[in-house]
Amino acid sequence: MTLDIVGADLPVRLRSGATVRFAHLDYAASAPCARVAAEAVERLLPWYGSVHRGAGVRSGRSTLEYERARQAVGDFAGARAGDAVVFTRNTTDALNLLARALPPGTTTVVFDGEHHANLLPWPDPVRLPAPPDPDAAADLLDRALAGIAGPAVLAVTGASNVTGELWPVRRLADVARGYGARVVVDAAQLAPHRPVDMDALGADYLAFSGHKLYAPFGAGVLVGRADWLDAAEPYLRGGGASAAVGDRAGDVTWATGPARHEGGTPNLLGAASLAAVCEAIADADREALHAHERELLERLLAGLAAVPAAVPVSLFDPGHPRVGIVSVALPGHDVAAVAERLGADHGVGVRAGQFCAHPFTRRLAGVAAAPGGDCGTGPAALLRISFGLGSTGEDIDRAVAALAAETGGRR
Ligand code: PLP
Repeated sequence: MTLDIVGADLPVRLRSGATVRFAHLDYAASAPCARVAAEAVERLLPWYGSVHRGAGVRSGRSTLEYERARQAVGDFAGARAGDAVVFTRNTTDALNLLARALPPGTTTVVFDGEHHANLLPWPDPVRLPAPPDPDAAADLLDRALAGIAGPAVLAVTGASNVTGELWPVRRLADVARGYGARVVVDAAQLAPHRPVDMDALGADYLAFSGHKLYAPFGAGVLVGRADWLDAAEPYLRGGGASAAVGDRAGDVTWATGPARHEGGTPNLLGAASLAAVCEAIADADREALHAHERELLERLLAGLAAVPAAVPVSLFDPGHPRVGIVSVALPGHDVAAVAERLGADHGVGVRAGQFCAHPFTRRLAGVAAAPGGDCGTGPAALLRISFGLGSTGEDIDRAVAALAAETGGRR
């Protein structure tokens, strides 16, 4: 593939004592590291210093690198003139930052198909049941926004971390804009698989994480309209976020621009590695990347169709486009135990549970919340197979074969 992956051929020792190549099929949790990301870190390791902390050779160089990274990540996201590009720790951090910057009285609307990171930060959101078709979602949103007086925000995922399905973001954004509402796109699962041009998506804000985008060094980003961010209280108070501090308590002039919300010494290595991946993906042959993903997805779905115990879950019609993420229900099986055996006995790394999307996985399973909680092990638990640039057809075949072996065979 166009993007070289570090550790694409890791050996893993099975319970039997045999050693096989590890099949990493949990990209949706954290993708492996791209070579360009590792190289960016290596390049900076001898030189890194404190960003934006006055004059000094290392500090000056680090500041230049950090601002260069900001530009590259903003370009990747299709940031428009005047948009802020704020580095954060991850998507969760980015969405929490924005939630704190909402003007008073703003109502946020979300669907319950969201990851918790896009459900929980919003103060008292209107939560709509994710309907099984895009037309119904648009209608539902239209009705909800019609009933809201005052400023509103739609916060929606670009691609589901549970089903991999692409959300009809543009369509929903058009509805939202009809009401003057702003649109926030959680691109944590979209950015690794599809272009994330903000204009094309109809997004006012976009958030994503480096560790899902082949840059596992702890950086994320919030890109979007600067006015609310400039008017908001600083997200982290301290050095960097303050332009001038007087002698009396409370006598402080807060920084403007992204620095206002980036208090403390920033994660230069995270920002630079994220930027390196953004640049590499922008330069890559996107059609070839999509073709690779499509091929693996078809292979996986065809393979799963022959495993009677595994029932792929989806919200929309079966033909609805999805990225390289497929979750299956395993009725009658202990999902966590199957996933553990896939790892320990087959060297296939998948994920089991509810993937921080409890309302959604319960909706897909048609079950109500269990008293006391049943996260990851109850009737809504799923097994998720997710892949990306370093994945091969052999990985997919091994996952299907292992799943068949551990659940009673093939059709
Ligand atoms: N949004 C979606 C759709 C996700 O899949 C995830 C992580 O799985 C997040 C947000 C949160 O990302 P992070 O844990 O990097 O903050």
